[in-house]
Amino acid sequence: MSDSSSNTSKQTNLLDHPRGAQTGQPGDRRAFSFETRTRLADSADGKGRNGARWGRTGTIHTPHGDIQTPAFVPVATQAAMKGVLPETIKELGGQCMLSNAFHLFERPGEQVLDEAGGLGRFMNWDRPTFTDSGGFQVLSLGAGFKKTLAMDVTGMKSDQVIAEGKERRAFVDEDGVTFKSPLNGDEHRFSAEISMGIQHQIGADIMFAFDELTTLMNTRSYQEQSVERTYRWAQRCVAEHQRLTAERVGKPYQALYGVVQGANYEDLRRHAAQQIASLDFDGVGIGGAIEKRIIGNTCAWICDEMPEDRPRHVLGIAAVDDIFACVENGGDTFDCVAPARCGRNGAIFTRDGRYNVKRAEHKHDFGPLEEGCDCYTCTHYSRAYVDHLLRAREINGFTLATIHNERFFIKLLDDIRASIDGGYFEDFRDQTLARYYAHGSRG
Ligand SMILES: [Zn+2]
Repeated sequence: MSDSSSNTSKQTNLLDHPRGAQTGQPGDRRAFSFETRTRLADSADGKGRNGARWGRTGTIHTPHGDIQTPAFVPVATQAAMKGVLPETIKELGGQCMLSNAFHLFERPGEQVLDEAGGLGRFMNWDRPTFTDSGGFQVLSLGAGFKKTLAMDVTGMKSDQVIAEGKERRAFVDEDGVTFKSPLNGDEHRFSAEISMGIQHQIGADIMFAFDELTTLMNTRSYQEQSVERTYRWAQRCVAEHQRLTAERVGKPYQALYGVVQGANYEDLRRHAAQQIASLDFDGVGIGGAIEKRIIGNTCAWICDEMPEDRPRHVLGIAAVDDIFACVENGGDTFDCVAPARCGRNGAIFTRDGRYNVKRAEHKHDFGPLEEGCDCYTCTHYSRAYVDHLLRAREINGFTLATIHNERFFIKLLDDIRASIDGGYFEDFRDQTLARYYAHGSRG
């Protein structure tokens, strides 16, 4: 199905014998690295300095196997994707999965994952894993956050924006964030050291530094202060990460990515990227709210300032055109909850755009969710059946819709990777986007 599935047999023992783990020894950092295969040629309309285009294919080596990039990273928020087992994600060609440190800290608690032998072993996934730092979940308790905002926010700046109908539940200070648990209202504290401690116990191959998330609504002066605070937190994350790596002997090496914030300001993004590049991180996370129209530029500004041997993850991508813009401008990996979350509501991603299978016209439609799709759902089930299951709130409906949507994004990134290696990225991009948005599809 994808070029990763051929590795399956080699990786069967990775849960027991991850690369670079030795009894009595700290994790061997050499088990994590990135190598570039093909770089897109610089061009007149390249968004990086001097027309640089940072898009590339490559391989991320981790203690639990390789990730061929660019790659889509399915999200298993609470060490699970609703209705879809990790075995199925593997069959769909999924190379890696991302879970949320904050959710796992709340339930079942990071100690349980540590006892289980880490996130991968806990959820029976023998390929690479990521955790985010918890910063996004903790801070988005404070306000209504969206990764990309297409709306014009000029003239509406405020540091006190709270989503309608929400109570502010998170407060930032110099040392960290205090927040109330959405589960039970208990007061908790997150900081650089606490996030690192939790992520080390969860044991994912790739972790993220604890950063402050801002929104595009925040004022420029707040964004400036926030970038400096995120830098100070990044320094503390690196120090704590090194301490924990040395202390937790016998564990595989966990890579740490620094996160670049700076909202939609070029100078702030470049400055933040230089700060993160100056620290001893293994990779970089492109984070925070980004205005949709400059999402490619934002990636390019950051890549301009970053050593090329560090892999780059774009946190929380939502739309097909955004993925192309981010890949072209240097993103290597992308996580996205949309395929699962939208699928549960009946939104189906296809090469001809997104449609809702719960629309009346599909009630008697016995064709597949997408003609020509190779996924299990499309080769075995009909639109009419998926529509029925979703309406009846049957869990199998979640399963079937999610399988198709995850396959759509995994295959999209597989195809993009092939187009860069094959030298036809621009044609593939133009044709794919023209077809996808021909009917006015959103997302
Ligand atoms: Zn399908």
